[in-house]
Amino acid sequence: RAVIFVHGCFWHRHEGCRYATTPATRPEFWAEKFAANVRRDRATCDALVADGWRVATIWECALRKPQSVEQTAAAIEEWLLSENRQLEIGKTDPG
Ligand SMILES: [Zn+2]
Repeated sequence: RAVIFVHGCFWHRHEGCRYATTPATRPEFWAEKFAANVRRDRATCDALVADGWRVATIWECALRKPQSVEQTAAAIEEWLLSENRQLEIGKTDPG
């Protein structure tokens, strides 16, 4: 009973991430679109947790380099074997 989401940083709005850019054109369209995506992700996660599922969210930026893919895979394995309910992995520094 574990779910692993892999979220694109742009579409799912990874907070503080360099890849969560906002297009210069049609700002209102994008603001609404992104807000709806974030609301839907939160509602989905909350519903899964309420139903007894464990939920991991892996951000795209944690999978961009072979070395970070290995680190992320190891962290997921550790989480799956743990009792922890939720996991979030994403690189949030500007590098
Ligand atoms: Zn990111």
